[in-house]
Amino acid sequence: MCAEVVVLRLGHRKGRDPRITTHLGLVARAFGANRFILAGDEDDELFSGLQSVSESFGGRLLTEHTEKPMKWLKEFTKNGTAVHLTMYGLPFRQVVPSLSTDQPLCVVVGGAKVPRQVYDICRHNLAVGNQPHSEVAALALFLDSFIEDVPQFADARLSIEPNARGKSVLDRDESE
Ligand code: SAM
Repeated sequence: MCAEVVVLRLGHRKGRDPRITTHLGLVARAFGANRFILAGDEDDELFSGLQSVSESFGGRLLTEHTEKPMKWLKEFTKNGTAVHLTMYGLPFRQVVPSLSTDQPLCVVVGGAKVPRQVYDICRHNLAVGNQPHSEVAALALFLDSFIEDVPQFADARLSIEPNARGKSVLDRDESE
């Protein structure tokens, strides 16, 4: 069981990034993060979309916006470890085993432009391969490796039974 896992998404642009930032939030929730911090534009609609997934499929992802992500990150690193996902970093699989699961971890993912400071504030700059691709893919692979067991959401209204061909969805409200 890991201590708190937070995802910090830098540079969100409300008009341009809603889909990719929503996917970051969905990956954060599904792969076991507890908090999702948005920097850049405020976006309540995006937070409501994430909330409605949790209302149906369970779990609790706390969402917040920060006006000052560098200040937020510096504050976080007083008691926690921050890792920055970047194609310029060190191979993540080499570093993950050394990360403590006993203290809070913040995973920083960039947007269009990542401020230089991020590279210095974070304890590790980690690459998910040294090719440019997607923050969503990088986050999913990192969390899968760090958290290992995907969370089970005991409070879910809808739950999916694995099925080799069709769709099996259990609705708690219909079975009561
Ligand atoms: N041009 C930006 C910059 O200033 O570095 C990066 C843009 S990239 C589309 C957005 C984010 O995806 C990056 O900040 C990083 O978090 C993530 N990313 C993309 N490729 C990655 C890789 N190979 N390894 C880790 N993270 C990656």
